[in-house]
Amino acid sequence: MQEHRYDVVIVGAGGAGMRAAIEAAPRARTAVLTKLYPTRSHTGAAQGGMCAALANVEEDNWEWHTFDTVKGGDYIVDQDAAELMAKEAIDAVLDLEKMGLPFNRTPEGRIDQRRFGGHTRDHGKAPVRRACYAADRTGHMILQTLYQNCVKHNVEFFNEFYALDLNMTTDENGEPVANGVVAYELATGEIHVFHAKAIIFATGGSGRMYKTTSNAHTLTGDGMGIVFRKGLPLEDMEFHQFHPTGLAGLGILISEAVRGEGGILRNVDGERFMERYAPTIKDLAPRDIVARSMVLEVLEGRGAGPNKDYVYIDVRHLGEDVLNEKLPDITEFSRTYLGVDPVTELVPVYPTCHYIMGGIPTNVDAQVLANNDQVVHGLYAAGECACVSVHGANRLGTNSLLDINVFGRRAGLAAAAYANSTDFTELEENPTAMVDEWLAGLLSEHGNERVADIRTELQQTMDNNAAVFRTEETLTTVLGDIHALKERYNHIRVQDKGKRFNSDLLEAVELGFLLELAEVTVVSALNRKESRGGHAREDYPDRDDENFMVHTMAYKMGDGLIADIELGYKPVVQTRYEPMERKY
Ligand SMILES: Cc1cc2nc3c(=O)[nH]c(=O)nc-3n(C[C@H](O)[C@H](O)[C@H](O)COP(=O)(O)OP(=O)(O)OC[C@H]3O[C@@H](n4cnc5c(N)ncnc54)[C@H](O)[C@@H]3O)c2cc1C
Repeated sequence: MQEHRYDVVIVGAGGAGMRAAIEAAPRARTAVLTKLYPTRSHTGAAQGGMCAALANVEEDNWEWHTFDTVKGGDYIVDQDAAELMAKEAIDAVLDLEKMGLPFNRTPEGRIDQRRFGGHTRDHGKAPVRRACYAADRTGHMILQTLYQNCVKHNVEFFNEFYALDLNMTTDENGEPVANGVVAYELATGEIHVFHAKAIIFATGGSGRMYKTTSNAHTLTGDGMGIVFRKGLPLEDMEFHQFHPTGLAGLGILISEAVRGEGGILRNVDGERFMERYAPTIKDLAPRDIVARSMVLEVLEGRGAGPNKDYVYIDVRHLGEDVLNEKLPDITEFSRTYLGVDPVTELVPVYPTCHYIMGGIPTNVDAQVLANNDQVVHGLYAAGECACVSVHGANRLGTNSLLDINVFGRRAGLAAAAYANSTDFTELEENPTAMVDEWLAGLLSEHGNERVADIRTELQQTMDNNAAVFRTEETLTTVLGDIHALKERYNHIRVQDKGKRFNSDLLEAVELGFLLELAEVTVVSALNRKESRGGHAREDYPDRDDENFMVHTMAYKMGDGLIADIELGYKPVVQTRYEPMERKY
C-alpha cells in the first residue's frame, strides 16, 4: 500500500474535475485521480453547446435563463441554485474564452449562439439563441482547453487510478469528515491511499445501466456508488434523461443542435408531429416532452422502419454547407454507423439514455450533504455525479456543460479554502480494509457467472422496464430482476487473476456500482407515484405537487447484498417561480 498526502484530492478529470483543479491547484496542493486519461473523459463527447445569456445575437438575460431551467426541470429545481448558475454562466463562458477555447464566431467576431430545446425568450414566447458552441465538438474543445490550463497550473494527475472507497471519520462534535480516497492503480494492481483535507468527487454519470445510451462505456456511476455505500444519500435518482435523438438501434447521440439549427422530427407519414405536442416551440420543446412524444408516435403505429420502431430527424433542408460547417460530426456519425447521408436522407432516431439528473446531494458550494441539514466536512461533489439541484426532473440541453464549469469552479474554490483552514485528520487504522477484502473476494470467487452476461441482462431489463415510461408493474419486474442479478453477482468469475492492467477485475467492480445504482433508481421511481420531467408513470400520468414537490433522498441501510434502501425527502427551494402547468 502506498500513501500520498494532498490538501485537495479530486476524483475525476472530466470538465467538472479539471475546472475544479484549475481553481484548487494554485491555492492548495492538489492531485487529480482519474480512471481515464483526462482527455478521454466523456465531457469530450459533448456536442451541441454550453449556454449563457450573453445576448450576443439577440435579446436575452439570466432571469429568462433561470425561468427556463426551473420550468424545464418541472419545478423540482432548487431555484436559488438555478439562479446562481444562470448568473455565473456569463463569466463561465468568458473564462473559457480567455483560457483559449475556440468558440464559433459571429461575422462581427463575437461568440456565436444557437438555439436549444427549452431555452426561450421572455418566459416561453419563442426559442432564443443562448448556446455557445464550437461546431458540434463543444465538449471536446472544453476538455482540451481545461486540460491545457491544468498543465499550465502544474496539476498533478494520477492517470488510470480507480477510486474504490472513501475514508471518513468524525470530528469532536460527532460530525462526519471525509479524509481519504482509496484507489487501485491499473498498471500495477497496487492499492494507494490518498490522505486529504478536502476531496472532490467529479466522476460523471451512470448511463451504462441502460442498453440504449449515449454514454461512454466508462460511465458506471462509481462516485455515486462509493458515496452511497458509505451511508450517504443519493438524491432524485429516479430522474434519468432520455435524449430524443439517438441513432435508432444504437443510441449514439445526434446532438439537439440539429434541431437548434432547424432540423425537424417526422413520423412515418412525414408529419412534423411535434406541432401537436408543443405547438409554440415544437421540435425545441424540452427533451422529456420530445422523447415521450416520439415513443407515443411509435406506440400509436406511426413509427418508421421494418419494425415501425423509430421516427426520423430531417435536416435535408439545411443544406450541405450548414451541415458541414456546424454539424460535421453528427453528419459523419449518421453515415458511418447507419449508412445514411443526412444531406439527402432522413435519419432514423429513437430516445437514448443520456443523463442522470440525480446524484450526490450538494449545496451551491458543492459541499456534500449527509442528510437534509448536515454537510460532510471536507467532501465535495460537482458535475454529473452531483445533484445541486439545478436540473430538477429534466435537464435542459447545454445546461450540463454549464453546470460542470460553474459548480466545478465553485467546488475547487471551496475545497481549497477549506483545506487551507484546517489540519489533516487522522486516517482510520486500516484505511484499505474494505477494498482489500472486496477485491480479494472478487478474485478468489470460483463461481461461473460472467460479468458481461449480468451487465447485458441488467441493461436489457432497465431498457424494457425503467426507460421513458414506467408503471408499478414494470418497475416491480425490474426490481426483481436486479435482485436476482445481484444474487448472481455474488458468484461471478473474474478470469484474470493478475496484477497488471486487470481490466477484467475493474469491470466487475464497475458492474457492482451499476447494480447498486439501478436498484436505487428503481426503488426511487416506484415510490414517486406521479409523472414529472424525465419520470413518466403511465399509472400516475399527472404531476402531483401536493405530495411530490420534494426531492427523493435514498439511503443504504446495512451492508447486505440486497440493499435495504430507506427513502426520505428534502424540500425544494422555491424563490420566485410558482409551479405552473408545463406547456410549450
Ligand atoms: C454524447 C454526449 C453529448 C453531450 N452533449 C452535451 C452538450 O452539448 N451540452 C451539454 O451541456 N451537455 C452535454 N452532454 C452532457 C455532458 O457532456 C456531461 O454531463 C458532462 O460533460 C459530465 O462532465 P463530468 O465532468 O461530470 O464527467 P465526465 O466528463 O464524464 O468525467 C468523469 C471523470 O471521472 C473519472 N472517473 C469516473 N469514475 C472514476 C473512478 N472510480 N476513479 C477515478 N476516476 C473516475 C473519469 O476518468 C473521468 O475523468 C453530453 C453527453 C454525452 C454523453
